[in-house]
Amino acid sequence: MKILKNQQPAGVCFVAIALSILCFNSSCELSGGVKAATEKPANISSAAAVADTASSFVTVDAATILNKQQVPVLCYHQIRDWRPSDSKTSRDYIVPVAAFREQMKMLADSGYHAITPDQLHNYLTKSAALPAKPIMLTYDDTDFEQYSIAKPEMEKYGFKGVFFIMTVSMGRPHYMSREQVKELSDSGHIIGTHTWNHENVKKYEEKDWSTQVEKPTKVLESLIGKPVKYFAYPFGLWNKDALPKLRELGFKGAFQLSTSRDTTEPLYTIRRIIVPGTWNGATLHTVMKRSFK
Ligand SMILES: [Zn+2]
Repeated sequence: MKILKNQQPAGVCFVAIALSILCFNSSCELSGGVKAATEKPANISSAAAVADTASSFVTVDAATILNKQQVPVLCYHQIRDWRPSDSKTSRDYIVPVAAFREQMKMLADSGYHAITPDQLHNYLTKSAALPAKPIMLTYDDTDFEQYSIAKPEMEKYGFKGVFFIMTVSMGRPHYMSREQVKELSDSGHIIGTHTWNHENVKKYEEKDWSTQVEKPTKVLESLIGKPVKYFAYPFGLWNKDALPKLRELGFKGAFQLSTSRDTTEPLYTIRRIIVPGTWNGATLHTVMKRSFK
């Protein structure tokens, strides 16, 4: 789907979501989409130099990261009941409220603990301990229900979420306001960058990195009064050129969707699965365990 600058970015993740869901039907397994355990680093001697929060550098071998057990990372967009006008495709990424509540309850009842990106980063780069049954809950695109429904539902169980904000949307109808984004951060949830208006990273020229990534990140940091250190690719799409660029801009990690991680830069290609609206808690549990090995 082509997204024009200044265009209202409603439903901008359709393509990525459709691709991601296809992966669960095994069609993407040839590309390694749900076979992360079989990923073999092409160059095990290459290292990822990662700036930690103290501005010192930790050198981590990519192979070491790739060989660790993956933490399941879930990706949500809209959380609302289906409307008659919602297409079959769109229902794959609009999670009805009751289904979302069931999924959160399943995670809590099954003993899962929602972790932050920094916890994941420390686990991957320093072998820091994680709580039992770690999971990460992420939300893209700034949809209002992420504040009105996901936030209180997660908080019932002590879960923290990670909200990747598209800054052009803040304050628009059906999206979160600036105050709501700040309240998420003040409540202990994590704010990440999801570009200014959802342009595909693979098409960026030099100036786009400033417009789409650097400036929106500064806007978010100024709003919440904290560093913003994680990025989510629009449509989940990335290329090799983007990875060093994100590191240069100070990001500690970046999240894609369910294709294979980069063999030399796994911290900038962390995998996520989109949870479609058709899954109940049991289905989610089964796919989580299968997709993150
Ligand atoms: Zn998106």
